[in-house]
Amino acid sequence: MKRVAFLGLGAIGAPMAEHLALPPFELTVWNRTRAKADKFAASHSASVAATPAEAVRGAEIVVTCLPSSREVGEVLQGPGGILEALEAGAILIDCTSGDPAASREFAATLESRGAFFMDAPVSGGVVGAKAGTLTVMCGGQPAVVERARPVLEAFGKRIVLCGPVGSGHAVKAVSNALLAVHVWSTAEALAALKRMGVSAAIALDVINASAGRSNASQNLFPERVLTRAFPRTFRLALLDKDIGIATKLAAEAGAPVPLLDLAARLIHEARIELGEEADHVEAAKVVEARAGTIIE
Ligand code: NDP
Repeated sequence: MKRVAFLGLGAIGAPMAEHLALPPFELTVWNRTRAKADKFAASHSASVAATPAEAVRGAEIVVTCLPSSREVGEVLQGPGGILEALEAGAILIDCTSGDPAASREFAATLESRGAFFMDAPVSGGVVGAKAGTLTVMCGGQPAVVERARPVLEAFGKRIVLCGPVGSGHAVKAVSNALLAVHVWSTAEALAALKRMGVSAAIALDVINASAGRSNASQNLFPERVLTRAFPRTFRLALLDKDIGIATKLAAEAGAPVPLLDLAARLIHEARIELGEEADHVEAAKVVEARAGTIIE
């Protein structure tokens, strides 16, 4: 039996936590908006804690899945935070798509208290979380990641050790920077073709059998843009955060990334236009408005 605490039952956190509400795990959940935790516990085997500190008492593994490292820092060190309550030897697995520098600080703070930190952002979306097939990008000491493996394997299919603490977050940020480029460039390309008189469905059919294809062209645009469904699964605000981390890391490393810098600016403009709740694929609507056409 592994006692696990899960903090943050958002769009992806909740379906990840579902896999930990089964034997051999004994799960306690906490969510800022308590109603979501109560709803989760009504249909899964989990107890609900009133504060993050209460959730982690007695837990061998603590999983956080929050918007950014800022909220992880608050849950760690803010009022009712978990730092004082963590058991000696406990591992904090941070599945937030976070910031490597913040994660290194968290790791040092935890180690001074006899606990461990590893970053473990995920990829595969809400569908992958439900199916338990996420890719998990780990940053941490190999022995810590090995101890955490049973929990990671509960929601992940591909568990990859990327390097020391912060490495998982770095890989995730860069991967999502590519996602931003693909969403934006696919929208531009289809809008331009539409203005030339080619239907988006025909264009996608050809592109998906050609060299310009990507996950955006193969899945996101056919399922979400052409259908005008635009389901809200991953907020544009979070993608803006991720590409911001990626360009900051590149600048710190002295690697020029002019294309990613431009994509970061465009995604940020789209976030301002569409608001905090918009899905990342809705960025295509901003491209459509600028091009004066609809991708359908
Ligand atoms: P959501 O916005 O759906 O959920 C955010 C969660 O964080 C909620 O539980 C929310 O609580 C909680 N939260 C927000 N602010 C605070 C705060 N100040 N203190 C404590 N808790 C807070 O995000 P997602 O679940 O989509 O994303 C979580 C992380 O996973 C992000 O880093 C994201 O980039 C990453 N990710 C998301 C994917 C996706 O497909 N959605 C895919 C891969 C990675 P409340 O219910 O009270 O609002």
